[in-house]
Amino acid sequence: MAIAVKEALKDLKGRLEDKVAIITGAGGGIGFEACVLFAKEGARVVAADIELKAAEKAVDRVKDVIGPLHLSKHAIAYKVDVTKEAEVKKMVETALREFGRLDIMFNNAGIMHPHDDNALSTDEKVWDLTFETNVKSVWFGSKYAIEAFRRNGKGGNIINTASFVASVGAATPQLAYTASKGAVLALSRELAVTHARENVRVNTISPGPLNTPLLQNFLNTDDKKQRRLVHIPMGRFGEPIEIAQTALFLASDEASYITGADFKVDGGVTSAYVTPE
Ligand code: NAD
Repeated sequence: MAIAVKEALKDLKGRLEDKVAIITGAGGGIGFEACVLFAKEGARVVAADIELKAAEKAVDRVKDVIGPLHLSKHAIAYKVDVTKEAEVKKMVETALREFGRLDIMFNNAGIMHPHDDNALSTDEKVWDLTFETNVKSVWFGSKYAIEAFRRNGKGGNIINTASFVASVGAATPQLAYTASKGAVLALSRELAVTHARENVRVNTISPGPLNTPLLQNFLNTDDKKQRRLVHIPMGRFGEPIEIAQTALFLASDEASYITGADFKVDGGVTSAYVTPE
């Protein structure tokens, strides 16, 4: 009987039990949901964002959800600007100091600048800031994660948030953003191939248009919303939890043979020619 109970308890273990994760953009739509979901599945989480208060809200939510069931610390909020290499390095050092190891790096922070437009009207400053936030950050995050994984001696797991616009062009342009997400795909593929034999998996998620501030602050009229919705076969925006669930799968051992892949979580938008009426 005791053995049966032990076996049953083993099955109750979370999908990320004993793993340590850093999630950037933890104060925003996707990052917030990922912090809660990863912690629910047993991970210890560094919730990192340039907005510390927003990251603290994610940690508060983790505490509400995990509750008194777990006595040990499950999440910490951390202020980071992912465009600054020294800050990213310190963030990884903090994860190692607080939790002893690092297994998962979710490079998720990103921006879509309000003045990002077409080739003729996009300012160089907007282009540079977009690339620093969306691309350089992924390089920095991956670099220090791989160093930490080497110390673990067991490899690790990198998930980078790209976008569906890395694969399809839009006539409502945001050229710097689109190009930056294409770079995330290319960078991630090469990281996956280079570090595969160290047991480091690297994958991307390409979300479709979502119900998060990043997009919805910009789609501030019904016309703007409809201009997008008509192209989505499922006829709705995605929810951040739907992206977090994909990140959970990729971060878990269930995805042990998946590397160099891009997961499109987009309501079918990148597969569509015409959509149902
Ligand atoms: P969000 O705006 O809700 O969250 C982004 C978070 O990143 C914010 O909390 C912000 O403070 C943080 N951030 C911005 N710059 C930072 C910096 N320099 N350092 C640290 N943190 C910083 O957006 P979201 O929708 O949750 O976006 C998460 C990721 O998903 C982004 O990479 C975005 O490009 C991508 N994405 C979003 C959509 C969408 O429709 N919302 C679609 C495809 C891809």
